[in-house]
Amino acid sequence: MTDAPKAFVTGWPISHSRSPLIHGTWLRELGLAGSYEKIAVPPDAFARFLGGLQADGFVGGNVTIPHKEAAFAACARRDVAAEAIGAVNTLWFEGDALTGSNTDAYGFSANLDERLSGWREAETAVVLGAGGAARAVVHALKEAGVAGVTILNRTRERAERLADAFGAEAGGEGEFEALAPRFDLVVNTRPADPAGLAPADVRAIGALPESALVTDIVYVPLETPLLAAAAARGLRTADGLGMLLHQAVPGFERWFGRRPAVGEALRAAVIRDIAGGS
Ligand code: NAP
Repeated sequence: MTDAPKAFVTGWPISHSRSPLIHGTWLRELGLAGSYEKIAVPPDAFARFLGGLQADGFVGGNVTIPHKEAAFAACARRDVAAEAIGAVNTLWFEGDALTGSNTDAYGFSANLDERLSGWREAETAVVLGAGGAARAVVHALKEAGVAGVTILNRTRERAERLADAFGAEAGGEGEFEALAPRFDLVVNTRPADPAGLAPADVRAIGALPESALVTDIVYVPLETPLLAAAAARGLRTADGLGMLLHQAVPGFERWFGRRPAVGEALRAAVIRDIAGGS
């Protein structure tokens, strides 16, 4: 008899992770033997942790902040998305070879396929923010064939570096209002400000085309100030929770052998968890 597959999520800290809830729900729904556990690993112990995975009986797992770049470097093999994004969030073994993917771009696209029909026809998109998640978003937009991607960021140089890597345009976040009339799709990746949307961003939302689509990858709160302003203007919007749920699908399928569905019950369970926590 073979042992039930064991998977993990690691980060530092990791207590906030909702991945155990997602994978645990799917294991139960599908009636599979298997486990998925949270393991806090500080940066200086990460290489040792990876080295011990097979001996500890793990088939793979997820990696989150601050380990995604270290996981990328540690992999013997990486898929196309991981290579393009330069970070790994999903690990498994091919034989003895530690192999990595980045499933954030897949999660982003799958969420919009489900909740924002027509997004693949966008010719122009603006990405607000230029951090790690923005890299995955820009990769997804390019893969979907969105020709004109503009990255606007508080720190303009960071937007320029990201734009150079993907053949996109870059600017400072103050340029959003003036450029807004040209965008078919808006993607926010900046943390939501509890004080609400900056007045210039409110004006930018007002200046978007009537057919513009707006999404936020931030899902706490579920309706961010940006999404609220866009919805109030009558624009079609999609929140970022589906990205979190869909990015988990490829890993689960690799470790446990069944492709799980992102259903309303799972979405509701994660919303309850967010309401009860942070
Ligand atoms: P990150 O690497 O720290 O980047 C944060 C970005 O936001 C940077 O561009 C930063 O600008 C900008 N920013 C931060 N505070 C700002 C402020 N007060 N005003 C203007 N810009 C500000 O973070 P990340 O990993 O990209 O994650 C970004 C967000 O996406 C997080 O909230 C995360 O939870 C969420 N996320 C969601 C999913 C999902 O599955 N839905 C997946 C990944 C991430 P500077 O460059 O100027 O610092």
